[in-house]
Amino acid sequence: MEQVADVVIIGGGVIGLSIAYHLGQRKVGKIVLLEKGQLGEGSTSRCVGGIRTQFSTEINILFSLESMKTFDHFEEEFGVNPEFKRIGYLFLATTDQDVKVFQQNLILQKQFGIPVEWLHPDEIRRRFPYLKMDDILGGTFSPRDGYAGPSEVLSGFAGGAKRTGVKIYEGVEAKEILVDKGKVTGVRTNGGEISSPVVVNAGGPYASLVAEMAGLRIPVKPLRRQVFVTAPFHLTDQTIPLTIDFHRGWYFRQEVDGFLLSGPLDREPSFNTNTDYEAMVEASENAIYRVPAMEKAQIARGWAGLYEISPDNHAILGKVPGLEGFILANGFSGHGFQHSPAVGKVISELILEGKAKTIDISSLSIERFERGELILEPMTAFKE
Ligand SMILES: Cc1cc2nc3c(=O)[nH]c(=O)nc-3n(C[C@H](O)[C@H](O)[C@H](O)COP(=O)(O)OP(=O)(O)OC[C@H]3O[C@@H](n4cnc5c(N)ncnc54)[C@H](O)[C@@H]3O)c2cc1C
Repeated sequence: MEQVADVVIIGGGVIGLSIAYHLGQRKVGKIVLLEKGQLGEGSTSRCVGGIRTQFSTEINILFSLESMKTFDHFEEEFGVNPEFKRIGYLFLATTDQDVKVFQQNLILQKQFGIPVEWLHPDEIRRRFPYLKMDDILGGTFSPRDGYAGPSEVLSGFAGGAKRTGVKIYEGVEAKEILVDKGKVTGVRTNGGEISSPVVVNAGGPYASLVAEMAGLRIPVKPLRRQVFVTAPFHLTDQTIPLTIDFHRGWYFRQEVDGFLLSGPLDREPSFNTNTDYEAMVEASENAIYRVPAMEKAQIARGWAGLYEISPDNHAILGKVPGLEGFILANGFSGHGFQHSPAVGKVISELILEGKAKTIDISSLSIERFERGELILEPMTAFKE
């Protein structure tokens, strides 16, 4: 393994690999990426691939729109079909508060040219006749949203990074971040030491453990989300959007010949990635409540993964005051897959040019927590 690098990235998920690709493309030195296990084995491989523009804050919308440009042309750029399926996202409102917030969000989204529309309950009933409508007060729909394949996108970034000369090491764990006089000087790993003036924390749900290696505390907590998939089940011939029963925190979408159903999101942080029976029951009950025909569907399998939650459900990006050369790309709070193209771009700009140019990321700095400048959302953020 290299003993000297210009940038070391810790973490071989979709974020670390996107950063590696964007840095490699600029041909500005030796870039090394370390993954303690196999590429993608963290949250990326557990992710359900949702990509949407329907966010409720300007900064998340900017990251979505920038990332969409890459997803739209992914195959041309990376030679891998990302399997981006534009099925649309349908958000269902069942409380007056939901209606108010969705309508505010719609005004914001339209300012960015997003083709989102407000759907009256009659229109929802007409377009999506399989939904139970008793408590639905309206909804928003954007046909630009959809989902793509996390492993396809990951392998696109990994292949792209390797072609630019990035050195990727699997089975190499960062054990310590070396620091001298307030500056990062390298990384000690289970395979030896690499000196480097820049180290990127792309540790996903392990981000706070990676930061601790540099003596820092960052507020990123791992929260388990369970997901279940039914056996093949036919509901309708029409395209079914990714549908979110917002108040219940439940969503579903087509998955090959069956359906993917979201299970519960834990309240307490942990690194537990087991699935449990109660979660499967909850996912099934939510499904039958909103789509009564699903009573006949059977759960075939399930899995769990970890969100990397920040205190305001927004990413923590950029430099760290008092520790030169340490860069954070953390806290995506369940949106890291869809924002990975733009994150790779802005972090590479920050490292190479001193400032992120494509999107102003100053509002996402870690300093916002000390300053009490958390990013406010009108309502608890939805997480895929
Ligand atoms: C069930 C579920 C569904 C999701 N659905 C969506 C969705 O629809 N849309 C969306 O945008 N996002 C979704 N997400 C979130 C998304 O998966 C994450 O935001 C994204 O994968 C984060 O990528 P990452 O590279 O930061 O983290 P990871 O993929 O976790 O990668 C971090 C890597 O760092 C490695 N690592 C950690 N410590 C070390 C160390 N010391 N040395 C070396 N390597 C180390 C880990 O092994 C890991 O592979 C979902 C998440 C879950 C759990």
